[in-house]
Amino acid sequence: MKHSYKLICLLVLLAFCILAPSAQAAIEIVTTTTDIKAIVEAVGGNRVRVTSIARGHEDPHFVEPRPTFMLTLRRARLLFLVGLDLEIWLKPLIEGSRNFAIQPGNTGYVDCSQVIGVKEIPMIRVDPSMGDVHPSGNPHYWLDPENGIRIAELVARRLAIEEPDKTSHFESNLNEFKTQVKNSMVAWKTRLSGLKNRKVACYHNSWIYFTDFAGLEIIGYVEPRPGVPPTAREIATLVTTMKAHNSTLILREKYHSDRFANMVAGRADGKVLVLPSSVGAVDGTSSYIELIDYLVNAIAKELTAS
Ligand SMILES: [Zn+2]
Repeated sequence: MKHSYKLICLLVLLAFCILAPSAQAAIEIVTTTTDIKAIVEAVGGNRVRVTSIARGHEDPHFVEPRPTFMLTLRRARLLFLVGLDLEIWLKPLIEGSRNFAIQPGNTGYVDCSQVIGVKEIPMIRVDPSMGDVHPSGNPHYWLDPENGIRIAELVARRLAIEEPDKTSHFESNLNEFKTQVKNSMVAWKTRLSGLKNRKVACYHNSWIYFTDFAGLEIIGYVEPRPGVPPTAREIATLVTTMKAHNSTLILREKYHSDRFANMVAGRADGKVLVLPSSVGAVDGTSSYIELIDYLVNAIAKELTAS
């Protein structure tokens, strides 16, 4: 009897030793957008539990700061954000969370723009009349897959600091992600190869990183001052520009109003292509690679047909 009791204790201890590492709680992480969430999950694997504040179909410039986000942020060990003043709604949420680790300047606050070559940094001070949502440069950098890799590398470095004994796990996931993106990039470049220097108009200034990657040229914006509705004169100017360049395609984010884009399309004899600009915005964009894949295929299809 005594012997079997010892055996049971030994088995319980053995089971605990085997199960303990996998039962270790995952790192609680909050991201501001679904794109960064998708990348953190790809690199972190089963060692992370990630919540995104913005949903894929929302305009990341304007997210309603619901109080429940403060509770989510309170639990977070790490907060990954886009930065460059994209998340103008974030500050009260971070302060309200009372989580010291994720306050700006502290170790849990990770601004992904630090690893990006930022485009369109204003040379002069930007005031609200000029469009007030890109005061620190264009923040829509996740739409260039090269930047997706840079974000993933940053995530791997940061997670390795959090859990040094899992460094090889994060590195392995990172390498797999990089391989998938690089292989996809070959296919994307092939798909876009015949469309080099084709001219498109855009609604909001969200697409410069993607169009630079794709080799396309943006000739104007329906909303030339980001965040400010266009004037009649600005619409007329864009219609003239599109006609002069024989350009017929207008890219619009899913969350923007169709009113002004349709007005321009009607006058320029063009077409509005509604696109997801974040992971999960529409069906078929459940991962970072799927999002870029969707964009490449949708735009290539339209430009090839026109
Ligand atoms: Zn923007």
